[in-house]
Amino acid sequence: MYNNYRDHLDKTLNEIKEAGLYKNERIIVSPQGAEIELNTGQKVLNFCANNYLGLSNSPSLIEAAKSSLDDHGYGMSSVRFICGTTDLHKELEKKIAEFFSTEDTILYAACFDANGGVFEPLLNEEDAIISDSLNHASIIDGVRLCKAERYRYENADMSDLEKQLKLAQSKRFRLVVTDGVFSMDGNVAPLDKIVALADKYNAMVMVDESHSAGVVGKTGRGVTELFNITGKVEIITGTLGKAFGGAIGGFTTGKKEIIEILRQRSRPYLFSNSIPPMVAAAGIRMIDMMTETNILQDKLHWNSEYFIVGMKKLGFDIKPTKSAICAVMLYEARLSQDFAARLLEEGIYVIGFYFPVVAKGQARIRVQLSAGHEKEHLDKALKAFEKIGKELGVIK
Ligand SMILES: *Cc1c(COP(=O)(O)O)cnc(C)c1O
Repeated sequence: MYNNYRDHLDKTLNEIKEAGLYKNERIIVSPQGAEIELNTGQKVLNFCANNYLGLSNSPSLIEAAKSSLDDHGYGMSSVRFICGTTDLHKELEKKIAEFFSTEDTILYAACFDANGGVFEPLLNEEDAIISDSLNHASIIDGVRLCKAERYRYENADMSDLEKQLKLAQSKRFRLVVTDGVFSMDGNVAPLDKIVALADKYNAMVMVDESHSAGVVGKTGRGVTELFNITGKVEIITGTLGKAFGGAIGGFTTGKKEIIEILRQRSRPYLFSNSIPPMVAAAGIRMIDMMTETNILQDKLHWNSEYFIVGMKKLGFDIKPTKSAICAVMLYEARLSQDFAARLLEEGIYVIGFYFPVVAKGQARIRVQLSAGHEKEHLDKALKAFEKIGKELGVIK
């Protein structure tokens, strides 16, 4: 059997390669950070990590993680409800709820699991989920696992959302779900308008703050802070794998009855291991840092503004953004690949995205800013963009 199956896989792999879609992984031999070293010996400036607050290699988080290894050990060897809950897990859940001004929090091994396990226990075939067309894969998969009827609206399109809400009026309960920041453009969901429409058409709201927590809003509380609607959404999901330290872990935070049901019924919570205590300990330290000072959030905002203004001045076509994502539009797939490859030679590590990751004819380079970047890093990146932009005829 396997001989035939191997031929089948080889054929598929070749198709992926011929379409130019094969993903090769670069190997990093240093800690994650603004400056990284690859196994080729090349040292590059990293502009493609989700390390928004520069915490991936934070001495303070490392210290918190290390000391918890001594007093709480390495792993939990259990799901939460059997014997996988420590005081650190409970404290982190409480801190995340305080950070977002919500009522309670439930931790998962990843936000993929938080989204995968949130819909099915809460809604059934009598209900409706109304989902943005550009929502993250984990939301799409989570919705698939749920029996609720699915409605889809065009990205951030409020007249389409209103239309879908009207169509869903015969359902028992309605939940509108959106990413806070959409990762390809860096645009922010118009959550104030979404909440207003949800009020008008009697729906609940869920926002995934994975790319916005720690990033968007004056103090990094995400899109609800940006629009001054703290407490107005029922469900927030997020990750500990991006701005919040970059290790692993996800969470759902919101109304306490919702969290209580998830603890009883959410399958990725009930049937998957607890996050290690060291990740919880570092998470606690991370929330403390973000609550005590705004230094990192301020630096990220300054860096994002500085870079984006600089790129616009150079004449690049930048997607409107309110996040730490800067999409440099090049439109042609080949050009985005060549541009990224040339930038790497100049010591700037960014990724070119093209179909099917983004729509056809919408190829781009995505730059992700970080509080870990210093001004000289940003200047070096701007210089490299200018040089290659002129070389490839993108700017004059
Ligand atoms: C990254 C991301 C996730 C997945 O988070 P993990 O914790 O890495 O599983 C989920 N939703 C959105 C919007 C994301 O950007």
